[in-house]
Amino acid sequence: MSIHVIYRTESYDREELYGIVKKHFEAHGIKNELSETTRVLIKPNLVTNKDAAFVVTTNPELVFAVVRYLKSIGIKNITLADCPGGSLLLFSQMQEIYSDTGYSFLGEHVHMNTDFESRDVESPTGSVNKKFNIINAVADADYVINLPKLKTHNLTCITAGVKNLFGCIPGLQKPAFHAKYPSAKDFSNMLVELAQTVKPSFTLVDAVDIMEGNGPTNGKRRHLGLTFSSKDVFGLDAFITETLGIPQESVATVQASKAKNLISNDFAAQGDTNFVLGNPILLPESYRAKSGTDKLAAKINSLFRKIGDAVFESYPQMTEKCVLCRKCILTCPKNALKIENGKIVVDKKRCIGCLCCDEVCPNAAVKIRKKIKKH
Ligand code: SF4
Ligand code: SF4
Repeated sequence: MSIHVIYRTESYDREELYGIVKKHFEAHGIKNELSETTRVLIKPNLVTNKDAAFVVTTNPELVFAVVRYLKSIGIKNITLADCPGGSLLLFSQMQEIYSDTGYSFLGEHVHMNTDFESRDVESPTGSVNKKFNIINAVADADYVINLPKLKTHNLTCITAGVKNLFGCIPGLQKPAFHAKYPSAKDFSNMLVELAQTVKPSFTLVDAVDIMEGNGPTNGKRRHLGLTFSSKDVFGLDAFITETLGIPQESVATVQASKAKNLISNDFAAQGDTNFVLGNPILLPESYRAKSGTDKLAAKINSLFRKIGDAVFESYPQMTEKCVLCRKCILTCPKNALKIENGKIVVDKKRCIGCLCCDEVCPNAAVKIRKKIKKH
């Protein structure tokens, strides 16, 4: 039986957070699964170089609380690794990400990975993907601790435990997956098969301040005041979705996990289970039900989405916020972007609507438009 734990976590105050993180680890008996020689890998969300105030990345104080706890129980071999969006492959670029996201101080306590060498790992349960190329820091670990940031996501509706593991794939292989699996359903099936391959031992979700609306990088900050944890990453995503009143029909990764029978109703919820949400979570425009987020509205919305997906496709339009940093150009899996007359121009014939450009844009300069599909 899976155990999912939820704790009220009002702020990123260092001491408060440490106490709560300790309670999460103790609730699952993690200490008994580790020894001095265990190679522990911490996988936060470092999708782009924004500091904690933008609620795009896992808050560094939560990561620090995890590191402190691991050290307190005698763990010596701890590595922190993520492979952010875009074409990032250089040591100096990763150092810049650590600095811009407020992570640099963690280097005094753990090994901060800057090496994107990778190798193939068999995907024993993958029905579509038989293997994944994964960065060595993750592939070599004995125990993966998954530390996602809870956010809405314009492709998968929300990003939590399963989606966070996409950062185990190096550099430009990520946009290639978007190109290979442009639909939310196929992309989410791949994410679930990747999660089955990485097999995180423990997931602890930063939901103290979350992003709602047009996530994962351009939504709005909302204080939720929660942290969630489980050893069962698939069940945890479903539990979070349910707790936050987001219809499971809307969350592509939860649907993909269900399709593989990875989510059981046989679970126990522990901790602050009397949490009351208040205002509904604002979903991305692409998932928003016109009449709220109740189940009927979600079903109707899901039907309209299916019809809409068959008729329309998304494409980006760059707004005046664009500073021509070229990150989107370097990330686009279809070479659909170029600079012309001092502006980013989108080749709509090449664009597959994966929205990677939106995800990596540091300036919220990408507006998502719809056009009628050509069949
Ligand atoms: S749209 Fe965003 S990522 Fe692309 S060049 Fe402009 S600012 Fe950079
Ligand atoms: S332009 Fe943007 S949405 Fe279109 S294929 Fe490139 S990255 Fe994807």
